[in-house]
Amino acid sequence: MLRHLLLKLRATGPVTVAEYMREALTNPGQGYYTRRGGIGESGDFVTSPEISQVFGELIGIWYISEWIATGKPEAFQLVELGPGRGTLTDDILRVFNQLASLLSKCDVSIHLVEVSPKLSEIQALMLTGGKVQSNPEDQSAYMKGVSKTGIPIFWYRDIQDVPPGYSFYLAHEFFDALPIHKFQRTEKGWREVLVDIDPEVPDQLRFVLSPSSTPATEHFIQPEEMRDHVEVCPEAGVIIQRLAGRIEKDGGAALVADYGHDGTKTDTFRGFRNHKLHNVLRAPGTADLTADVDFSYLRKMTQGRTATLGPIKQREFLKNMGIDLRLQVLLQNSHDGATHEQLLHSYDMLMNPKKMGDCFNFFALLPHHRLVHPDKKHKPESKSPLPPVAGFGELLLK
Ligand code: SAH
Repeated sequence: MLRHLLLKLRATGPVTVAEYMREALTNPGQGYYTRRGGIGESGDFVTSPEISQVFGELIGIWYISEWIATGKPEAFQLVELGPGRGTLTDDILRVFNQLASLLSKCDVSIHLVEVSPKLSEIQALMLTGGKVQSNPEDQSAYMKGVSKTGIPIFWYRDIQDVPPGYSFYLAHEFFDALPIHKFQRTEKGWREVLVDIDPEVPDQLRFVLSPSSTPATEHFIQPEEMRDHVEVCPEAGVIIQRLAGRIEKDGGAALVADYGHDGTKTDTFRGFRNHKLHNVLRAPGTADLTADVDFSYLRKMTQGRTATLGPIKQREFLKNMGIDLRLQVLLQNSHDGATHEQLLHSYDMLMNPKKMGDCFNFFALLPHHRLVHPDKKHKPESKSPLPPVAGFGELLLK
C-alpha cells in the first residue's frame, strides 16, 4: 500500500486526507477493510456488539418498538451499513426470533451494505453458516443467503442498490470509517491539509497545507466557522441525504451510533493497531483509520426531510432501553462466577463514562409524523399522544 501511494504521490503530487483515507481503508486490493478489518479482541479495535450480546438485543428491541409505534407495517427491511463481523445483526436476529409470534405476519428481510469481500465472507459465515449464493441473477445484491433463523439476507456495495420500502437502517461505527477532508485556518485564510512524501525521510509520508484554497475549502467551510481546524466528511453527508430521502418516502427509521461530537471538535483523525494508537501516516493499510462523527453535520444533511433525535450518550441510551433490567435477568439466570464476572465487566465497558459510556452517541432519523401529528396544528385536541421514541427519553415502568 505504501509503495502504491508513493508512486501515486510522485506522479500526481499531494492528495487530500479523504483520498488517502479511502485508499488506506477500502482500496480494492490492499485496503485495511478489504484485506481483513481487524475487529475484535484478536484484532485492532473492539466494538460494543463484540463486547456484549445485550447491546444488539437492545437495538433489536428499539426497532421492534418503532415497528409497533407505526402500526406494525406488514413488511420491513433491516438495512445495516458496515456490519463488520455480523455480530450486531446476529444479536438482533435472535431478538426477532424470540419475538417470532409478534412478527409472524410481518415479512422481514436483512440487507447488508459492505464493501469488503473478506468481511462479507465472515458475515455470511456468522449469519447463514456460510450457505450463500454469489451474484444472484434476479437481484441487485452481490450475494444472498438465508439466516439460521430463516430470514433472507442480501449483500450490496452501496445503499443505492438496496430496494426501496419501509426500512430500518443501522450504522454502528460506520460513519467514522468514511473519508474526511481536513482544513486549517491560516493567516492567508483556510487551507486544506494534504498528504505528501516527506522530502527529508525516504518512503515516509507527511502532512502539508495546500498553497492556496481548494474547491473543498470553498465548499465545506461555513463563513461563521469559529474553529481553527475542521474535519468534514462529505460521503457521510451524501449517505445521510439518501437515508433521509428514503425514510421520508417509504417510512422507517435510522439509528446511527458512533463516537462523535456536535460540531465542536477539531483534530480527531487517528489510527488503531493492536488496540493501540497508531500514527495515521505509518504503514497505511495495516491500521484502522477513523475520525469522530460530526452529528451537527449529519443533522444538517437531512435537509429537513426527516426529524432527528440526539445525539445522546451511549450510557443514557442503553439505560433508557432497559440495560439494567436485562443485566439483572442475565445475572439471575447464570449460576457460575466466571459468567457473572464477564456480564459485569462488559456492562462496565459499555456504560462507564470513562470507557464507552460517554464518548459513543446515539442519533436517530425519523419521519416527521412520528414525532408530530400531521394535522396537530389544525386540531390539537383531537389526537391521542404519539408513543415516545424508546431510548431517547427516560424509561418509565408501569
Ligand atoms: N458495525 C461493525 C463494524 C464497524 S467497522 C461493528 O460495530 O462491529 C466498519 C465497517 O464498515 C466494516 O464492515 C467496513 O468494511 C465497512 N465499510 C467501511 N467503508 C465502507 C463503505 N464505504 N461502504 C460500505 N461499507 C464500508
